[in-house]
Amino acid sequence: MPRIKCSVDACFYQEGNECKASSIQIRPTTMEHMTTVSDDTACGTFVPRHVAAMQQK
Ligand code: SF4
Repeated sequence: MPRIKCSVDACFYQEGNECKASSIQIRPTTMEHMTTVSDDTACGTFVPRHVAAMQQK
């Protein structure tokens, strides 16, 4: 996968400001309006670190 920089510190897949997931899904945050700026998008692959830690126990 291409190198993806990400600053979402709370995500399980983030290491050293890069995404280590094998693939990611980006989606629009709203279905009612056209997506026009980057703030209208979000990473659907995001997994909170605390949730991933609980699942590994
Ligand atoms: S899965 Fe999404 S939020 Fe998590 S590190 Fe990768 S790009 Fe960032």
